[in-house]
Amino acid sequence: MLSLSERIQDAIELLQPARRVVALTGAGISTESGIPDFRSPGSIWLEQPPVSYRDFISKGEARQRYWQTRHALSSRVAEARPNAAHNALAEMERHGILTGIITQNFDGLHQDAGNSPERVIELHGTSRSAACTLCGTRSSIEELQARIDSGEQDPQCPRCGGYLKAATILFGQRVPEAVLTGARQLADTCDLFLVIGSSLKVSPASLLPHRAIRRNIPLIIINLQPTPLDDVADVIFHEKAGIVLPQFIEGLTRTEGVLPDK
Ligand code: NAD
Repeated sequence: MLSLSERIQDAIELLQPARRVVALTGAGISTESGIPDFRSPGSIWLEQPPVSYRDFISKGEARQRYWQTRHALSSRVAEARPNAAHNALAEMERHGILTGIITQNFDGLHQDAGNSPERVIELHGTSRSAACTLCGTRSSIEELQARIDSGEQDPQCPRCGGYLKAATILFGQRVPEAVLTGARQLADTCDLFLVIGSSLKVSPASLLPHRAIRRNIPLIIINLQPTPLDDVADVIFHEKAGIVLPQFIEGLTRTEGVLPDK
């Protein structure tokens, strides 16, 4: 295994000629902002699996469990601020080398870091809005949470009567086709694919790097735990994203002309 600084150097050499970098990010990029992921060892989610879409739609008990769990997570998400890894991706976009981010996260931290909202594809939706599970109408998550906090059990959509929840995608819920098409287009047109803090075990996100691999596009993976694509990646980091990504920016900045000011 090469040392961290050797692997950083290898990654920088791949990044130097790249002008259409795409990053796929998962819950791991936000753990350093204080939001726990689901799959790291010791996670409470492994003992108490998240509510599935099917259960949410069909069982009142599951909807109550959903709101209890959301209560525990939502204050951490509300307090979270972008960390060094989010900031490094924003820097890449500012310098015109990052065409987009495909994120599995619903926390909005890429936008807070300064990435343009139109360049961030939220595969699993956002926890910053509420949505009806039947007609899809968006509404204020703050107002919905206030209804729950004041004791309402099963809030329903005033338009169609469907159950309301945060505008996130639950396990078993389909990612909207338009969102998926946008993500595939990014993967099909990038000249370097970066995976950051994703176990690559949740589809459809886990399928996206394969589109770049088939075109022989360089693949760099930064994830604490091994992923199923480690064997085919060009450079692997089992280190924290907040440690690794800023070093890419430092290295690119040192190389004259690679990070031109926009
Ligand atoms: P996941 O499958 O993408 O796994 C997260 C991975 O991140 C793990 O393999 C872990 O080793 C790695 N990791 C943790 N901290 C890291 C760090 N500092 N640097 C680099 N890698 C790190 O995601 P999951 O936790 O199984 O969650 C499943 C789904 O739940 C996600 O796809 C997402 O939709 C949702 N979720 C979102 C958030 C969020 O928005 N912040 C948080 C938890 C879960």
